[in-house]
Amino acid sequence: MIRVLKSQPPPQWLQLHGPAGRAVLEAAYDADTTLCQHAGTPALKPLRRIFAHTTVKTQLRADQHRKCAYCETKFSHSSPGDVEHYRPKAGYQQDQNGPVLGPGYYWLGYDWSNLLFACEQCNRVCKRNQFPLRQPAARVRNHHQTLQHEAPLLLNPATGPDPETQLTFNFETAVGLSDEGETTWRVCGLNRPDLLEARRDYLEMVQDQIFLATILAANPPVMDLQVLVALYGSLEKLSEKISAAQLNYAKLAKANAPFAGMVRANFPHLPRI
Ligand SMILES: [Zn+2]
Repeated sequence: MIRVLKSQPPPQWLQLHGPAGRAVLEAAYDADTTLCQHAGTPALKPLRRIFAHTTVKTQLRADQHRKCAYCETKFSHSSPGDVEHYRPKAGYQQDQNGPVLGPGYYWLGYDWSNLLFACEQCNRVCKRNQFPLRQPAARVRNHHQTLQHEAPLLLNPATGPDPETQLTFNFETAVGLSDEGETTWRVCGLNRPDLLEARRDYLEMVQDQIFLATILAANPPVMDLQVLVALYGSLEKLSEKISAAQLNYAKLAKANAPFAGMVRANFPHLPRI
């Protein structure tokens, strides 16, 4: 996970429809606070046609370089992805196996600062309604309270501390550097088997690219080069591979690269910009 830089101002659609939509939800809460204490109360449900409007989703996807905010997978070629609410809109869980309690953070349903682009695996299968806090008793329960004293244990890549100072990687495995980093990889399932396999494969590709990109500068023995020529079939093909790797080298750890957090953690010398 790396920092996400969200564009400002928010998408025009949210500016146009968010405030009125929020007012409707807040009025519904105030009209019957007892009823609204349950998770999934229909009257507190933010409208998808507002928060997930195509212009909102397109902007989030562009800001995040078409990557999931949590796992950094580039997946939008194979599935549409979700507009995900960092603070869950319909209900919350303090613990993965605990009850889903209400109300959720309904008043943030159209809040640009609460929206991220995420893959379905991270959002729907792993995170779902989880939103653990350092002090559960300090949880904000409605729009009359301020979020100032709430301390989430889930990292938000768009706000708060730089995710790379909280969550790192040992080869392909996500490792917490803080309670927040540890909680985040667990909540988002960042060490799920298929994701570990994808990151392992990607890391091998990165290692190969770095090796090829830097091999000539390392003045290898002629014999080693001969082995590589044999491996790639000809000197011409090896030269092509080296040239391509030298071009790729500068891109491997950039913010728009897949799994950039993992690549940076394993190869801190790679250029990031
Ligand atoms: Zn994901």
